[in-house]
Amino acid sequence: MILLIRIWGDPILTKKAKAVDRITAKERQLIADMMETMEAADGAGLAAPQVGVAQRIFVFRIGEEMHALINPKITLREGKRVQPEGCLSIPGVQANVERAARVVITGRDERNKTVEYECEDSEEQGRAASAAQHELDHLDGVLFLDRAQTDTISWLIEAEDEEGEEVIEMLETSPQEILQAYKTRRLPRDVHIQEMLWERLEK
Ligand SMILES: [Zn+2]
Repeated sequence: MILLIRIWGDPILTKKAKAVDRITAKERQLIADMMETMEAADGAGLAAPQVGVAQRIFVFRIGEEMHALINPKITLREGKRVQPEGCLSIPGVQANVERAARVVITGRDERNKTVEYECEDSEEQGRAASAAQHELDHLDGVLFLDRAQTDTISWLIEAEDEEGEEVIEMLETSPQEILQAYKTRRLPRDVHIQEMLWERLEK
């Protein structure tokens, strides 16, 4: 089942999520639904608070494969890397964030087995390292804009170049402006947001 993605301004997104004591059929169903939702939204990761559940669970991609982590912990951070990031709960926005280039993350999977992944952003793994750090932050109520380089925070605007080709332009903004825009449902014209998230903003 595709779950409703919470949009910034929803108090659950800035709360610390609770550790999971027992992994039951309920948690397994939540994980299956989160994977389906992440897939449908074409995301690199999705944390339980983003679908309204304040539990320490997230799903993310390592390359093509989807994985779930319960009560995750990063045990190693190496190197630094600055890259543009976005978030399904802050649609239409992009900003540069400095993250560790490589992380080792451990936790339990949906079968209650301890798992450990070495993640690195690469051709093979996609955005695995940034996603792991971004999703773990969600479990602590931290959003990527809290860590973003302020002068890079931008709305993504759909435009056309001289040849009539579709391009994405950046329109500088601030966290205050973004929050206000979501709250009043007054987004910039032609902002680049996926269909399924537009539906959320139209409600
Ligand atoms: Zn996010």
